[in-house]
Amino acid sequence: MRAAFFFITLLLLITNCDNQKNTDDAGKFLSTGKWLDLTYSFNAQTLYWPNNSTGFKLDTQVNGITPAGFYYSSNSFSAPEHGGTHLDAPVHFAKDHLSVDQVPLTNLTGDAVIIDVSDKALKDRDYLISVKEIEDWEKKNGTIPDSSIVLFRTGYGKFYPDAKKYFGTDAKGPDAIPLLHFPGIDPATAEWLTSQRKIKALGLDTPSIDYGQSKDFKTHQVLLGKNIPAFENVANLDQLPAKGAYIVALPMKIEHGSGGPLRIIAWVRG
Ligand SMILES: [Zn+2]
Repeated sequence: MRAAFFFITLLLLITNCDNQKNTDDAGKFLSTGKWLDLTYSFNAQTLYWPNNSTGFKLDTQVNGITPAGFYYSSNSFSAPEHGGTHLDAPVHFAKDHLSVDQVPLTNLTGDAVIIDVSDKALKDRDYLISVKEIEDWEKKNGTIPDSSIVLFRTGYGKFYPDAKKYFGTDAKGPDAIPLLHFPGIDPATAEWLTSQRKIKALGLDTPSIDYGQSKDFKTHQVLLGKNIPAFENVANLDQLPAKGAYIVALPMKIEHGSGGPLRIIAWVRG
């Protein structure tokens, strides 16, 4: 009994030391640098896929002075899952795979590598990001470390929320889908990244990880089929360094959701 008491006390002491160390490490990590918001605000301009019949809607429920004399404000909102800055959960394109509430937090937090393909993508609206782009990045920066979040910067973020420039069309409805022209990730690149490297998540500054002209959404199928989530319509990627940023990407926890609005931020070490 006494031995058990001693053991528990020792365990508590060790746990406390560990917590203290973690807090110290976190404090050190956060001592120089800044948070950067990689999220577009949700509002009436938020971009959704052309066949979505509704967008983001905020309805005022109460706004004003109550009979008791204090100010009170409360709204209700509605929105499709996939639009604005959002997360694609694996179940979006892979039956019985993880839904948005099931994506592990470890996939949503971690060190990021930013691969800039804007030179080519801005010249060609149908550009497919190739394995060569990654190889070129690795020649300069070293092999993508295990457990990285990989973000591609196409440069199209500067067009958001101008649908015509960002999507290639501002037309709406199913007939507008063949008119979509924006760059995306070649399925072969998704295959390579998920077999040759160990990545936690993939994201970019366009509406979709597949390019606008895709008919089969093969990049979605490859990535999500391996239970790796995607971040789309990511903002401010031009402000991130090639490596050294730490990402926190937390979607709304919609049970059984195929995706959802995402608050994604980056800690950029100073
Ligand atoms: Zn999506």
